[in-house]
Amino acid sequence: LRRLRARLARSNTALGKGLLALLSGGRLDEAAWEEVEDTLLAADLGVAATTDLVDALRTKVAVEGTTDEATVRGWLREELLTLVDPTMDRSVVSSRVDGRPACVLVVGVNGTGKTTTVGKLARVLVAEDKDVVLGAADTFRAAAADQLQTWGERVGVPTVRSDRDGADPAAVAFDAVRAAAEMEADVVLVDTAGRLQNKVGLMDELGKVKRVIEKQSPVDEVLLVLDATTGQNGMRQAEVFSQVVGITGIVLTKLDGTAKGGIVVAVQRELGVPVKLVGLGEGPDDLAPFDPEAFVDAILD
Ligand code: GDP
Repeated sequence: LRRLRARLARSNTALGKGLLALLSGGRLDEAAWEEVEDTLLAADLGVAATTDLVDALRTKVAVEGTTDEATVRGWLREELLTLVDPTMDRSVVSSRVDGRPACVLVVGVNGTGKTTTVGKLARVLVAEDKDVVLGAADTFRAAAADQLQTWGERVGVPTVRSDRDGADPAAVAFDAVRAAAEMEADVVLVDTAGRLQNKVGLMDELGKVKRVIEKQSPVDEVLLVLDATTGQNGMRQAEVFSQVVGITGIVLTKLDGTAKGGIVVAVQRELGVPVKLVGLGEGPDDLAPFDPEAFVDAILD
């Protein structure tokens, strides 16, 4: 965990250092505040959160009449933490619900790290002694099912898949959920396809996957996988997905590859659901629960 934290800190240092340099010591005139805004926007915090944060800081500086570094740092920490909202429930459903396996649907645009996330999450859950089943409902690319199955073998959990290219993803998802029930598993993780070229097609396909699963048992969690390096573009994708299937949590991947950690705040705010997990690398252990306090401290380190 310390290693992950260090990596997260590195990815966010640009934001924290830049802000503190701007805010502390000097006089804060209009130009300086604009620079603060630019720094926050460049870190993908988004316009709404940036405006809130700067307004709050300006008020504090005006009322208290100080730009002492430690004081400003304390305010910044407080405001960032408020924006990240530490009160949100960030647990991922992974235990049996009403005598059946919990069902977690994992959605997102191809390339964001969906399959990798399912594999890493399976590994985390197996380490917690959970019985996990994987469902390879990304049937568009045969390679996707192979990739998921490889993860399954590595982690030691079964993968339900179709051998046929272009099989009905909803049917595979249904089979995976049924198999998990027969095995009395704790949780089934269903990987899905995310071709965004055609919004209507995606709606139909993903919506159907969810509806067909729900003929058998409820979907307990829908995790949206977002690539942190795609910034505001990722936000637009997120809106489409949340309209189509309804999102209960966000997994922000590739946070190791960006200084734009502010996307955490922007996406939570926009979608109204918590970031639950973060991806910090390509390896099997590079998935961590999202910890608001550690995140803000890493920014300000
Ligand atoms: P999918 O198409 O959404 O299923 O995406 P994949 O799981 O195939 O991942 C796409 C690429 O992103 C692969 O090369 C992964 O190794 C890489 N990847 C996934 N998560 C992370 C992460 O947290 N950090 C980094 N650096 N790479 C990641």
